[in-house]
Amino acid sequence: MKDAQITARVAGVRDDIVTIRLEADERGKLFPLVKNEVVYICPTRTPDDGRQEFLQAEVLRVRHGEADVQVFENTRGVAIGDPVRQSGQMLSVTLGPGLLGEVYDGLQSPLEQIATQHGFFLPRGLQVEGIDTQKQWAFQPSVKVGARLKAGDPIGQVQEGRFKHKIMVPFAQVGEVEITWIQEGTFTVDTAVARFRDRHGDEKEMTMQQKWPVRIPVSQPLLAQRFSERRYPDEPMLTSIRLIDTFFPVAKGGTACIPGPFGAGKTVLQNLISRFSDVDIVVIVACGERAGEVVETITEFPALPDPKGGTLMDRTIIICNTSSMPVAAREASIYTGITLSEYYRQMGYNVLVIADSTSRWAQAMRETSGRLEEIPGEEAFPAYLDSSIRALYERAGLIANNEGELGSLTLIGTVSPAGGNFEEPVTQSTLRTVKTFLGLSADRAYKRAYPAVDPLISWSRYLDQLSEWYGENLSENWVNNVKKMHNLLLQGEEMQQMMQVTGEEGVTLGDFLIFNRAQCLDQVYLQQDAFDDVDGSTSMQRQQTMFALLQRCLFEHPPLPEKDTIREHFTRLTSAFKNLNYSAEGSPDYQRYWKEIHQLSGLVLPKVAEAEEEQD
Ligand code: ADP
Repeated sequence: MKDAQITARVAGVRDDIVTIRLEADERGKLFPLVKNEVVYICPTRTPDDGRQEFLQAEVLRVRHGEADVQVFENTRGVAIGDPVRQSGQMLSVTLGPGLLGEVYDGLQSPLEQIATQHGFFLPRGLQVEGIDTQKQWAFQPSVKVGARLKAGDPIGQVQEGRFKHKIMVPFAQVGEVEITWIQEGTFTVDTAVARFRDRHGDEKEMTMQQKWPVRIPVSQPLLAQRFSERRYPDEPMLTSIRLIDTFFPVAKGGTACIPGPFGAGKTVLQNLISRFSDVDIVVIVACGERAGEVVETITEFPALPDPKGGTLMDRTIIICNTSSMPVAAREASIYTGITLSEYYRQMGYNVLVIADSTSRWAQAMRETSGRLEEIPGEEAFPAYLDSSIRALYERAGLIANNEGELGSLTLIGTVSPAGGNFEEPVTQSTLRTVKTFLGLSADRAYKRAYPAVDPLISWSRYLDQLSEWYGENLSENWVNNVKKMHNLLLQGEEMQQMMQVTGEEGVTLGDFLIFNRAQCLDQVYLQQDAFDDVDGSTSMQRQQTMFALLQRCLFEHPPLPEKDTIREHFTRLTSAFKNLNYSAEGSPDYQRYWKEIHQLSGLVLPKVAEAEEEQD
């Protein structure tokens, strides 16, 4: 960038928005500048060490002869007349092997490396490569000289930890190319491993890395040219959390929103979802939270054991921006995280992105919009808030890549509405966009009913959308049964409300029974102890078994002629089911409680359970 031409000069500074005036070339024509291009502001006032700073900025608005750019750094000391160099590129990230396990800031600077080289904060105006250029990777070609390929086609692979990482023809490449040279061996990411001739007959070198602009989906050119194909999500992303998988499922390639009133268990829930979901790769975007929380995320998260073996960090990328970092970088960080995820999806992997929180991201957008003096919409958010949120969630999805392999990007965004007010614009726009809503409630958290997702306000459109999958993999009646049980919860709530007014005496025996059934369902199925090795995660197969048994037990029981006998029966049933939840499948304890539940309910033990018992 030192060599990049000076094409403009600073004409005004307002916080992180800098107005630049374009210079004219020798023929008197203004240098062209496009929206979203990256420019570098070079303050003439240098820091004490005499180093020339290059402050990265993105062009937001171009007028005749002038442009407004948002600077990703503090603009202290930037003065009128300071030179501006143009990069000729959009805000981009580097894609290639070495991304997994990294902790980045919103502009893909690796935080750990910065911390060891410069202390915790990156000195202003210094850029660090997103991918380690020293590390060597064993490249294995999968095509030969003469192969005719197109954008996104693999030319070979390297082993990145436990994953086969495909090296693909640059996504921006237009038309067919012909491989003219390719080499096997161990190289750094910036070494040429192949050459191809493009449709104009020009020969180009290919390394194992490529740049991609974060505001454009990686898959866009591939979908537009029909090399890859978008599919409808058709299977659930299983989280091993009963309440989610059974009642409010999220599809692989789907979208969900978690609103988190403070202390309602948002962090624990996110950790559980990232740990136990049946996805290959997890990308966490910690956006705009307080520095303390972010430090918590990056120190605690890497240490979590991975149920698939190794540590969770081996298959995780963390993008983190604290509220003390400039707002512009915060706004960019979600796009950075999603772009990296799309890259792995294109290789055929299932990727989960957790964006925490999209409210802070939207606030960053609001601040920038305010500084640009745009006409504000509701609560001073920009008028394009709704379309920005929609565009963000549209980057989730299921895609068949160039080779027909399926990869998915599931996007779960948290919102942090001030004062738990769901009516505010960010929550409302998000709710109109996503297909699952996991409404964490402070009230349930207070009662220690974890996960504190309120079944009365939560919903998922995937239960119906994935009914074919449930029919084939669980049972014909799965969706109907789930709806029946959900209905029981709603009825139970109604009874509870009534009893709060009239007392137990005021309701009929039938109503009291409904209330007890609903309570039991809530306590033994919806509630799940995250800190127990067994109860912490329940496989779908176990959920199916438990669900079927519980459904029978709630509705089939010995005669219960009085409220006292109803209460007593369900207390015992609840306790036996809870004990079953804590017992490993097939263990003697499991057998014991399984039997106890059947005896309590007067059910005949199914043959399968007896056979298991004999083996024991
Ligand atoms: P938040 O991030 O919403 O402020 P946390 O996720 O840190 O809240 O949760 C607060 C506390 O609630 C945790 O320290 C833990 O004791 C309890 N908790 C939250 N979720 C669960 C859960 N699923 N199982 C058991 N305890 C939980």
